[in-house]
Amino acid sequence: MSDLDELYQEVILDHYRRPRHHGELPDANRTAEGYNPLCGDRLVVYLKVEDGVVKDVSFQGTGCAISQASASVMTSALAGKTREEIQALFDRFREVVSGKGTEEDAVALGEMGAMSGVSQFPTRVKCATLAWHAALAALDKKDKSSVSTESQESAS
Ligand code: ZN
Repeated sequence: MSDLDELYQEVILDHYRRPRHHGELPDANRTAEGYNPLCGDRLVVYLKVEDGVVKDVSFQGTGCAISQASASVMTSALAGKTREEIQALFDRFREVVSGKGTEEDAVALGEMGAMSGVSQFPTRVKCATLAWHAALAALDKKDKSSVSTESQESAS
C-alpha cells in the first residue's frame, strides 16, 4: 500500500468515525433522500439555500464507510457554493472515483480525492456518489425528493 493510499484510508476512516455536519439541519429549506439498494446505503441531505447559494448543509444516514465518509467530506465542501459550482465539483469527483480522473484531479479535490481508491471497486462508486446525487436532487427541488442509484442511467 502506498503512502498516498494510506493517507486516503485515514481520511475515510476519520470521516466515517467522526462524521462532520451530521444530523438534521433545523432550518433546512431543501432536503433529499438517497438510497443505494446495491449496498444498503441510505442518507438524507439537508440544505439551507439562499439566493442560489448553499448556506448550510448536513446529512444523516446509515450505510457503509465509503457512503458515510463521502457524505461527510462532501458536506464540508458545499457551503458557499452555487448549483453550478457544485455540479462542476461533482463532475470532477465522479471522474476521479470512476478512474477517469488524473492524480492531479484527485489532489485538487482535497479530502474528496481520498475517495479515488474507490475506482478499483466499481460497485463502490455508487456508495461514493450517493450523497452527491441526493444533494443535487435537493438543489433541483424535484417533486420526488428521493433518488436511488438504480433509477438513474449510469449513476456511476
Ligand atoms: Zn455502500
